[in-house]
Amino acid sequence: MKKKLYAIIGNPVFHSLSPVLHNYWFKKYGIDADYSAMQTSEENLENIVNKIRNKELKGINITLPYKQKIIKFVDQVVNDAQSTNSVNTIFLNENNIIVGENTDVFGLQAAYLKEIINAENKKILIIGAGGVAPSVIFSLQKSNMHKISIVNRTYDKSIFLKKKFNFLNVLKWKTLEQDIRDFDIIINATSLGLKNGKDFDFNFEGVKDSLIYIDTIYNPVETKTLKFLKRNNIKTFSGLDMLIYQGQKSFYLWNKINPEIDDELMNLLKSKL
Ligand code: NAP
Repeated sequence: MKKKLYAIIGNPVFHSLSPVLHNYWFKKYGIDADYSAMQTSEENLENIVNKIRNKELKGINITLPYKQKIIKFVDQVVNDAQSTNSVNTIFLNENNIIVGENTDVFGLQAAYLKEIINAENKKILIIGAGGVAPSVIFSLQKSNMHKISIVNRTYDKSIFLKKKFNFLNVLKWKTLEQDIRDFDIIINATSLGLKNGKDFDFNFEGVKDSLIYIDTIYNPVETKTLKFLKRNNIKTFSGLDMLIYQGQKSFYLWNKINPEIDDELMNLLKSKL
């Protein structure tokens, strides 16, 4: 039988750990498949989706900046992808329909939110209103958390999100350093803290002792802010768990196997960062 081909598409994409993750699981479960990173221009999106239609590709993950832009090329947008207008996983179903699904929402819930006690009373701040933000908001909503504030450098993008999620409380970027002190959970959904990139220009001083800090960034495994808070005995989560759980659901959608997250996988991923 022909080798099954999978890919992650985006721009940039070569930093992605998804190939390591999926190729590990393909090997573990004896599936003859290969998963690669494909840097893609916007003009090429339709062509790539057509490769799924004609069975050259079995499935794709989508990363920035195409999670919304890909939507017009798929036949059906389902479940969390419909609720967030953000697609990160595509496959051809048994009726030859190209389906767009979102596994980031599950990734967030499985990695972090399921562990939070008394979730519905927590005050949450999402920092960032880019491509991943709708998945962050919707995962909180699904986990019964509704006291949600959002702040973004570009204010209008928060307002745009409020049109879809009208319960959001929109804050101003210039008061962020003060505002962080009011929250029980803070989620960094910006690219501030990425390896070789910019970071917050202040330390997260004065936050609640009981704060839970969730970073969506996994490269580095610990951002400057996460390290600072951890040193101050704040409970922190890195983006690596989210990456793994969103990948686990994509793998399930493609192979109908729920792959195990074992120590060997964790060590392998960490060795690549
Ligand atoms: P995006 O659409 O490019 O959005 C980037 C966000 O970062 C925007 O809110 C942007 O604000 C903000 N930002 C960038 N540079 C900034 C700066 N110098 N100062 C203040 N804010 C700045 O990216 P995305 O897809 O939403 O991804 C956001 C983060 O989530 C990335 O770090 C990505 O690695 C992470 N992520 C992780 C996973 C996972 O599985 N762990 C999955 C998806 C995404 P403006 O709107 O003002 O530009």
